Amino acid sequence: MDKGLAERVVETAGRVVASGAISTNGHGNVSIREPGSDEMYFTAGPSLRGHPLDAVVRVGLDGVLREGDLPPIQGAVVAMHTAMYADRPDVGCVIHTHSPFATAYAVAQRPIGCWIEALAMFGLPSGIPVAGYGPRGSAEAIAHIRAAVLPDHPAVLLANHGVLVFHRTPELAVLVGGIVEEAAEAGFHASALGGPVELPEEMRAAALQRAMAYAAAGTAHG
Ligand SMILES: [Zn+2]
Repeated sequence: MDKGLAERVVETAGRVVASGAISTNGHGNVSIREPGSDEMYFTAGPSLRGHPLDAVVRVGLDGVLREGDLPPIQGAVVAMHTAMYADRPDVGCVIHTHSPFATAYAVAQRPIGCWIEALAMFGLPSGIPVAGYGPRGSAEAIAHIRAAVLPDHPAVLLANHGVLVFHRTPELAVLVGGIVEEAAEAGFHASALGGPVELPEEMRAAALQRAMAYAAAGTAHG
């Protein structure tokens, strides 16, 4: 076990909790791909709140446990993570939560549209689609996720379940998880006011270009 990488997993779990994009009970899981390897480090604890270091496990990208103790209830969702690493060579971190507003959209089986600028700025210009329901971790659920994920988009809603975010780094994955929750909350409240209105397509590209210009200039997102 690479202690530094296991600590990074625990630190990322803590960042998810601090972001607020998590359900009250803290259910969820975080994985980080071990660079240059065919395995990931994964949170095997029941909650991301106060996740213990010794409950981080090593799992092969073939889904086989290599080190640590993985309870079946956590093991069932390993395939969601390994599928994202297999399909997206650039993905270094996968986060799954039941963040409340995003999960409300997942339960309603309603996609989140691009109605806040941050979605366009952070790689979700077409919003967040909903992957059809399948029992958690089943081949059916994984096939639905793979079918629903949009090219280069780092998040998908899981029907009747929650949300899955996958990005190059843990920091970006946590950031996008927070933006997805923020968009869901805004959409939820806007639905009491006639419904959220999506950004025009051409403005989404402009928002992304501005974000890239800020990044190139080293300016923080405000
Ligand atoms: Zn879940």
